[in-house]
Amino acid sequence: MLRVVVLGAAAGGGVPQWNCGCAVCRQARTEHPELQSTQASIAISADGDHWFLINASPDLRQQLIATPQLHPKAGELRHSPIAGVILTNGEIDAVAGLLSMREGWPFTIYAHARVLSILKTNSIFNVLSDENVKRRPIEVNEAFEPGLPDGSPSGIEILPFAVPGKGAWYLEGKVHPGGTDGAGDTLGLRIGDKATGKHFYFLAACASVTDELKSRIAGASLIFFDGTVWRDDELIAAGLGTKTGQGMGHIAMSGDHGAIAALAGLDIGRKMFLHINNSNPALLHDSAEREIAERAGWQIPADGTEITL
Ligand SMILES: [Zn+2]
Repeated sequence: MLRVVVLGAAAGGGVPQWNCGCAVCRQARTEHPELQSTQASIAISADGDHWFLINASPDLRQQLIATPQLHPKAGELRHSPIAGVILTNGEIDAVAGLLSMREGWPFTIYAHARVLSILKTNSIFNVLSDENVKRRPIEVNEAFEPGLPDGSPSGIEILPFAVPGKGAWYLEGKVHPGGTDGAGDTLGLRIGDKATGKHFYFLAACASVTDELKSRIAGASLIFFDGTVWRDDELIAAGLGTKTGQGMGHIAMSGDHGAIAALAGLDIGRKMFLHINNSNPALLHDSAEREIAERAGWQIPADGTEITL
């Protein structure tokens, strides 16, 4: 049995974002606290005792407090059920939470060599000592099974695959420590339970849906998919920024080539948006955009939502 807990569903900045006065952020601060959401991450477990995080958001400390499944075992002076962290990209909202795991508990970081190169060249991550925190490279199209602290297998098989996307925003126009070949900057994951064969997909960032991607995910029982913006020019139209969704490596929810249209008819059991920016009107429970998304079978999960496969 594979257990999945949504630790957070929001994009970088969260909801509300510290410096944002948009409609969603204002409502989240005042009359609609249920709109509040932390930055995107999920936790997975095959045995219910050992958990792996998919990305470590800057809100990780808050997420761990709010998630009983990830609390230290009763009676232990020092303990965490977290056995590892799998990183799908090197953005701040995927890696900064690692710094909140620096208090000497052993775990393993699994990431593509390009993302590991970012961690290696930023000395602040040295606070995670080699002794306690192993860093394991993962390869595109090579399945791996993350291990438990005692070296035994976790029962979870993860297949990373490349999806259309962009490198970390803060490296734009800079020299990437991992070299010029961008393959591996943005990964999607197929996450399966070895005992039952059940699996789901995790794509918190995806710039476009190719035919190859469609055939890969068709028929899946569950998918978490990039829901950053409702429309491509949303930040510009709202006066919140100068970047399009595409410019940030994110597909829009709406439109002829948006995620809702692209994934329609693929016979996917449960479709959940993740990495939703606070500018996205689909976050508002009574918006027309929310209605369109829900009518198309999409859910926007609340923090703490648990799903069992
Ligand atoms: Zn906002």
